[in-house]
Amino acid sequence: MSDDLPRLGHWIGGKAVTDESATTGDVFDPATGAVAKQVALADADTVGQAVATARAAWDDGWRWSTLTQRAKVLFAFRELVTEHRDELARLIVAEHGKVLADATGEVQRGLEVVEFACGIPHLLKGGFSEQVSTGIDSYSIRQPLGVVAGITPFNFPAMVPMWMFPLAIACGNTFVLKPSEKDPSVGLRLAELWADAGLPDGVFNVVNGAREAVDALLTHPEVAAVSFVGSTPVAKHVFTTATEHGKRVQALGGAKNHMVVLPDADLDLAADAAVSAGYGSAGERCMAISAVVAVGDVADRLVPLIEQRIADLPVGPGTDPTSEMGPLVTGEHRDRVAGYLDVAVEDGATVVVDGRGMIASAGYEDGFWLGPCLVDHVEPGMRVHAEEIFGPVLSVLRVDTFDAAIDLINAMPFGNGTAVFTTDGGTARRFQAEIEVGMVGINVPIPVPMAYYSFGGWKDSLFGDTHMHGADGVHFYTRGKVVTSRWTDTSGLKLQFPTHE
Ligand code: NAD
Repeated sequence: MSDDLPRLGHWIGGKAVTDESATTGDVFDPATGAVAKQVALADADTVGQAVATARAAWDDGWRWSTLTQRAKVLFAFRELVTEHRDELARLIVAEHGKVLADATGEVQRGLEVVEFACGIPHLLKGGFSEQVSTGIDSYSIRQPLGVVAGITPFNFPAMVPMWMFPLAIACGNTFVLKPSEKDPSVGLRLAELWADAGLPDGVFNVVNGAREAVDALLTHPEVAAVSFVGSTPVAKHVFTTATEHGKRVQALGGAKNHMVVLPDADLDLAADAAVSAGYGSAGERCMAISAVVAVGDVADRLVPLIEQRIADLPVGPGTDPTSEMGPLVTGEHRDRVAGYLDVAVEDGATVVVDGRGMIASAGYEDGFWLGPCLVDHVEPGMRVHAEEIFGPVLSVLRVDTFDAAIDLINAMPFGNGTAVFTTDGGTARRFQAEIEVGMVGINVPIPVPMAYYSFGGWKDSLFGDTHMHGADGVHFYTRGKVVTSRWTDTSGLKLQFPTHE
């Protein structure tokens, strides 16, 4: 650790907080392997300060802000994020390692949720029933919860927080974000942009940190709800702890996404899709395809097409516009992912392409590199298939029938995303009906829903009832109230039970 490195703190009450006494974590530049920054790791006291600040900002104002005022701030924030899109994308590349075009796309997908949230005056409209009984009307309203927390993973440091806070804030809540300690800069920069957009101090706060900060949020009595995205074991811990502490929780977990390729599919299209969805962002996407399920004789034709494509895949620093795939996020994660190639061989699979042989360009020798890896003859239950790898390792499983492909996917504990490649509409319809997965692609390998739909998986990929953004997001960040109201112009006392007569 060096005293010369930039040190990132928190954002509380509309200003940067350095938190000099906190312990720190290393933030790497994955392309060079160097420690580039230090980040403060908040303790429970610092988390308590952020929550108290958010609570005061709610009580003193944001709870009572008008819909017009909220929409105005959101529109201003939208303009600022658009204006700073390239800068935000470069911050992501510097700490995550993904290529610039991919990081720009991530910011764009986050912006789409901001744009959806700009429509909050419409989204919060309730229902009204006139004359439910004589002189009596009934109507429903949705109100904010209070302070809500967002805890996010390293792989989308801008987009995943933006699945959460635009809608939470638009719904009248105040927000405490706990970003991943691996790439904390972009959350802090978004906080500055909120301030520039005119968001009152204390409505959006960022506490950097790790487990201690998370546990402080999960147990804090003033936190009303928790949105979490990360790995399944942590999602389970977050769901259990926060619900035990009386909070509303949505906890999105890990994934193992399968792409089924039928013999009638366009195999060139399927090979392109497998490569882009398997190796884009170095496989560090919860919607990455990590397993191709080849039906019938497909594998013998498809595997060589995938192999050809990855032979020429440019892997290099995210800032180099010719790179299609960058490094992995840390050296530890790279080693863990690379270890699966030995595990695959031990379990009886065949390594067709071994990315450990990749040669980095000059100046980047110590980066966290792993080239694309392809493993064939994988069987269900092998560790390379049963476990989430979260790196550029694509497995190929061979099955005889379409039914066997559906059974294989439905037997998995995860249910985040999946895709089918076919030219037969009836087969595609059966797939969409029978598959036990929350997000389904038909000839689309990464079926990430648009902001006005909701994002979320099934089974061990999501704990809780509501998905992120779209109608579910509005529902999650508000609670319903139904008012029955009588304004009568007659006088007189009646004691009987109210009926519709
Ligand atoms: P992670 O679970 O390690 O970390 C996520 C967050 O939890 C971070 O903010 C981290 O600081 C915190 N955390 C980590 N360990 C903790 C612990 N023991 N107790 C309390 N908090 C803890 O996940 P990651 O490695 O940052 O991200 C990759 C994972 O996220 C993958 O499993 C991926 O599938 C998943 N993911 C899922 C989705 C989805 O929509 N389902 C989206 C993106 C990423």
